[in-house]
Amino acid sequence: MKVAFLQQLGERAWPQIDGRPTLLVPVGSTEQHGPHLPLDTDARVAAAVALRAVAAAVALRAAAVAELMVAPTVAYGASGEHEGFAGTVSIGHEALRLLVVELGRSAARWAGRLVFVNGHGGNVPTLVDAVRLLRYEGRDAAWHACAPGGDAHAGRTETSLLLALDPGVVGPDRVPGNTAPLGELLPAMREGGVTAVSPNGVLGDPAGASAEEGERLLASMTDALLATITRWTPDASGHLH
Ligand SMILES: [Zn+2]
Repeated sequence: MKVAFLQQLGERAWPQIDGRPTLLVPVGSTEQHGPHLPLDTDARVAAAVALRAVAAAVALRAAAVAELMVAPTVAYGASGEHEGFAGTVSIGHEALRLLVVELGRSAARWAGRLVFVNGHGGNVPTLVDAVRLLRYEGRDAAWHACAPGGDAHAGRTETSLLLALDPGVVGPDRVPGNTAPLGELLPAMREGGVTAVSPNGVLGDPAGASAEEGERLLASMTDALLATITRWTPDASGHLH
């Protein structure tokens, strides 16, 4: 999908920031995604959903939303459970919390609203803490979870998403991992990380993944993000439902 050039903050010059725009900040991770998906999978998905939501708002000329633009992605997150795999770089809860708080404090000097668009489930407790503080300080910040549903990690769901976004980065080694429900795996994962339950890092099964399925998932996540931004009813933790 082609995205209008000026919808990205990083491509604007400062006089092109006018009014009090709504800034979407994709938040991802740099963590193992099985033997076949790139380490930046979550960052790619969050950025794609944010960019598509802005493009959709422009196409709809959605009058209900102030001007939207997408900030550069925060590509590191809290991924301690994946640190048993090479390539994973986790900055942990405390560093991510401080990053989100200071990013929010600074951007809120000119942005009317801030939305952290999250692509990694492990970041959620951190976003709750950080956004709650930003809101307490009087800034209109919120966070939104990109929730495609499906399997937990590097399985059919995420493989489909990456096949839709950039098939060239999806490797051929698409083998199942541990397909037990996440709830069953959590106690062992809290003890020993993902390596304790899945030697190849996959929680799910990439079999059956397709670009078509990925496009459908991206479209529904994009619609959900745009709808929640339009409604703008953050709860006490800043979560946009
Ligand atoms: Zn992921």
